[in-house]
Amino acid sequence: MAARHEDEAIGPGATIGIVGGGQLGRMLSMAAAQLGYACHIFDPHERPCAAAVAARHTRASFDDTNALEAFAATVDVATYEFENLPVGPLAALGDKLLPSTRSLAIAQDRATEKEFIESCGARVAPWRAVASLDDVQAAVAEFETPLVLKTRCYGYDGKGQAWIREPSGAASAWAAIGGEPAVAETGIDFEAEFSVILARWADGRHAFWDSPRNEHREGILRRSTVPCGDLVAPQVEEAREAALRIAEALGHVGVLTVEYFASADGPLVNEIAPRVHNSGHWTIEGAVTSQFEQHIRAICGLPPGVTGLTRGGAVMENLVGDQIDRWPELVAERGAHLHIYGKGEARPGRKMGHVTRVVR
Ligand code: ADP
Ligand code: MG
Repeated sequence: MAARHEDEAIGPGATIGIVGGGQLGRMLSMAAAQLGYACHIFDPHERPCAAAVAARHTRASFDDTNALEAFAATVDVATYEFENLPVGPLAALGDKLLPSTRSLAIAQDRATEKEFIESCGARVAPWRAVASLDDVQAAVAEFETPLVLKTRCYGYDGKGQAWIREPSGAASAWAAIGGEPAVAETGIDFEAEFSVILARWADGRHAFWDSPRNEHREGILRRSTVPCGDLVAPQVEEAREAALRIAEALGHVGVLTVEYFASADGPLVNEIAPRVHNSGHWTIEGAVTSQFEQHIRAICGLPPGVTGLTRGGAVMENLVGDQIDRWPELVAERGAHLHIYGKGEARPGRKMGHVTRVVR
């Protein structure tokens, strides 16, 4: 089939390439399959969990340009589900790649990201780029503690971060992140965390989902709740406007997530993710169109799906590490939607699955 509809739409029957084979790629593949697409996963692991539900898997390193060129020749459009990718080799995908490498390049370096967010007129926690212990000490003197050091690149789920609670803790925090180029940012005594999740089309059409309130423990998302409640709701409009300015300035196509702190003086951007996001998993059952289906719609140029709630809201809980052992109880729970990613070993801190309860 692969028929072209709506100008340049890539129709069902076409093949969608996904760089990265984790749970986000898995849920994208499942949504794509529902619409009649086949997915081809590019991932260096032997059995990435997305490949178990996709038509094809190329096992190669993310910087293998030859393998990426061969992969590009098999797909009609491609996307990524993972941020820690070397950007250069992705040029092999040319303009088949959506969102483009611009969104990726900006999101994957915390200093570039913060400068970009500020250039879009959104606020972030006061911060400085640091490349030495002297820089860290200067930031401590400038902002006072608490501060958090975050490596510029390769952090996720709280990895690559160390807190400086007292000025005397600067050296140990710098050592804890391995003395890598980093940002030092002030600790925010936030009232709550939330995210804005939107999808944008190449022609500028866009859609937001209801914003979830997000609760983290040890740097890992534990729960997302919609509706977001009174601490967050008054900040959502301003946060949406900023998120849309960011998406437009990126020329982003697909789902974009902006994580926020709801602070006493309004929304502060924490970070952006140029992709579907853990805080949007609730949309599979809680919204008419899930973030995964909408991402496929946006990159293929299909019409936007409705993003409204299916019922009164939803609560998504992550199953991290051995919490996955609760599956027998959860699968027996009436109305609970259990998702198991099929990742194998339940290492501590590893996201193994999630459960969503739709609120009536
Ligand atoms: P990751 O890329 O690992 O998701 P984040 O920067 O989002 O990194 O940090 C993970 C979590 O750590 C945040 O969701 C928040 O709960 C906490 N955190 C990060 N930065 C700050 C900060 N400046 N002030 C307070 N809490 C923070
Ligand atoms: Mg985060």
